[in-house]
Amino acid sequence: MINGCAIVTGASRGIGAATALELSKLGFEVIVNYNNSEEKANAVLENIKSHGGGGYVFKCDVSNRAEVDKMINFAINKYNKISVLVNNAGIAQQKLFTDITESDWSKMVNVNLGGVFNCCQSVLPSMIHFKNGKIINISSIWGTVGASCEVHYSAVKAGIIGLTKALAKEVAPSGITVNAIAPGCIMTDMLTNDFDEDTLTELAEETPMGRLGTPLDVARAAAFLASGNADFITGQVLGVDGGFC
Ligand code: NAP
Repeated sequence: MINGCAIVTGASRGIGAATALELSKLGFEVIVNYNNSEEKANAVLENIKSHGGGGYVFKCDVSNRAEVDKMINFAINKYNKISVLVNNAGIAQQKLFTDITESDWSKMVNVNLGGVFNCCQSVLPSMIHFKNGKIINISSIWGTVGASCEVHYSAVKAGIIGLTKALAKEVAPSGITVNAIAPGCIMTDMLTNDFDEDTLTELAEETPMGRLGTPLDVARAAAFLASGNADFITGQVLGVDGGFC
């Protein structure tokens, strides 16, 4: 182990899977968190191992505090120290605001914002003890500019930005950085499940760089924020959006 351990939530697919591999290439042992996609999480870990890295998969619903605490304790028992937490796990939903049910709202808040709260609060005592740590929260451009038919998603992604900026100030004296990434339109299941081919083409055309982003585009930004090159950067929101915002 060179750099200690990194936990990536929602690492079974998409941006989280790419981030887990990039962090492994930086020398971190990686906890590949998943909720439902066990086979995919195992494949991510196998890929990490085939590149010379290591780690474990860990099933945990980030909206469930008891499960989160178990994951954090597992990581501490294995590696003693958690150097990096990437709060990436998330869900999306397209609905008119007037159609959003209380249950839709609660689920969106509990997974996308509650998950960040749970993981940050669970990991921080250890990071504060070591006076070291990097937390990276995956927000969204919709958290900065808002998206029609995604009011609940936009609200929680904006919440992540507020949480990031406030927590960054609170834990900076303990040597811990907290930053957010606001991805644009990134080619993952989240995008392809919600949009047809024509809409994806339109989104690419609306992106000044003329293409959709890849999970690797976001993973490289996360790896930068997790690295020593970002030691004096905290409370920031890094756009990875091809010029969209
Ligand atoms: P994705 O391909 O749909 O993957 C979502 C990941 O989150 C999966 O690994 C899933 O795990 C995990 N997850 C969902 N609910 C969870 C829960 N309750 N507990 C633990 N893990 C859970 O999505 P993605 O595009 O990679 O998105 C990753 C993050 O980037 C999300 O926060 C998303 O909001 C954000 N983002 C994405 C885009 C985009 O265009 N794709 C743009 C801006 C921001 P299982 O499959 O194992 O359940």
